[in-house]
Amino acid sequence: MQDVLVIGAGPAGLSLAAALGETGLAVQGLAVADPADPWPNTYGIWVDELEDLGLVRFLGHRWKDCTVHFNGGPLALHREYGLLDKDHLQSHWLTQCEKHQVTWCQGKATRIEHFATHTEVTTETGDCLRARLVVDATGHQSTFVKREAAPELAFQAAYGIVGRFSASPIRPGQMMLMDYRDDYLTPAQRRQPPTFLYAMDLGDGVSFVEETSLAHHPAVSIDVLKDRLHQRLHHRGLEIKETHHTERCLFPMNQPLPDFSQRVVGFGGSASMVHPASGYMVGALLRRGPGLAKAIAAALASSQTTPSLAASLAWQALWPAERVRKHYLYLFGLENLMAFDTPQLHQFFAAFFSLPTDDWAGFLADSMALPKVVQAMIGLFGRAPNPVRLGLMRSVFSHGHLLGRTLMS
Ligand SMILES: Cc1cc2nc3c(=O)[nH]c(=O)nc-3n(C[C@H](O)[C@H](O)[C@H](O)COP(=O)(O)OP(=O)(O)OC[C@H]3O[C@@H](n4cnc5c(N)ncnc54)[C@H](O)[C@@H]3O)c2cc1C
Repeated sequence: MQDVLVIGAGPAGLSLAAALGETGLAVQGLAVADPADPWPNTYGIWVDELEDLGLVRFLGHRWKDCTVHFNGGPLALHREYGLLDKDHLQSHWLTQCEKHQVTWCQGKATRIEHFATHTEVTTETGDCLRARLVVDATGHQSTFVKREAAPELAFQAAYGIVGRFSASPIRPGQMMLMDYRDDYLTPAQRRQPPTFLYAMDLGDGVSFVEETSLAHHPAVSIDVLKDRLHQRLHHRGLEIKETHHTERCLFPMNQPLPDFSQRVVGFGGSASMVHPASGYMVGALLRRGPGLAKAIAAALASSQTTPSLAASLAWQALWPAERVRKHYLYLFGLENLMAFDTPQLHQFFAAFFSLPTDDWAGFLADSMALPKVVQAMIGLFGRAPNPVRLGLMRSVFSHGHLLGRTLMS
């Protein structure tokens, strides 16, 4: 019998299987497709997040010229951004898995049953895999991880194109984190949920442009985003000359936290690890995976440890109390973002990105201790214009329960 079975071979599953293998545990992976199949998504990350982890070599592109643009004007961000070379990262984790004898089975997990000493996972074709502990890394739509009652789910949605255009959509060497200008929309469209352009120059005349809805309930449809992207490009006098790749993005931002008493341990989208106020998750996987693997190895080191206790220790390592409290603060931030009207949203982001870089960077990467996050938010309140302050105060009344959980979880 294996020590751990990891279900899923996306960034969460592969990274954790490799980290678990490194601890010396006997690890098996189960994935619907070949784990070497290319991942469909484009993954962006701040360069300093990889520097801190010694993983900068996995960047495929990096930009020093990073900008945000609101109706009030552009703002330079003094922080370097990158796109992961996902093939490189994937093959690195597969090599690590191979080195530590992590074996992969192909199949779709359909049933999980728990016994006193182990858990059994049955696949669609009837294969049965056994392990002392099962990690579900099947992404945001996991059916195995039980959660707190669902609120109205807010989704990040985006439609993007990698290709060539009649002229460059952004200046050479530039990365646009958010271009919220809405001058290309009709007055009626401006009353609809706001969207922004996420764009980067990939060199050699190729650019990536993506129309993005940061978070909305219900999700902004891909068709609306596609139309808006075309409308925005047309308004700037740009034609699409070649399309190399299209990206459709949809995932929940406020997935409820998992029930930490369950026997299946989650990691990645299944464990609600997406940052609720930004939608980023890869940095969190890289930072939190090795610690989770060590906690699982420590728990399973004794043959006396029951699978229930091992699962409970693993959940505690992934979601310690302080992280849970910060999560509620970020959820409060998300509710604010969704409640702002367009002028408030522009003013809010202009104030947010004018904070000291360490503060907004730490907020987005979830790398600051709770008191420091609170201090940064108070700083933001202090420098925000009155309409934004008013919006924030309204949210204290409408979503004060989230602040309550920040203080009391
Ligand atoms: C289009 C898009 C762009 C994104 N861009 C970024 C970004 O730039 N930066 C960032 O930090 N985050 C980004 N995210 C958010 C997040 O990082 C990704 O969603 C990430 O792929 C989640 O990783 P995961 O491994 O948890 O899940 P997934 O990548 O969804 O992988 C799940 C794996 O589980 C397998 N699986 C599912 N069900 C079963 C089953 N029953 N049995 C066996 N296997 C199963 C799947 O085949 C897959 O291999 C993006 C998300 C999307 C959708």
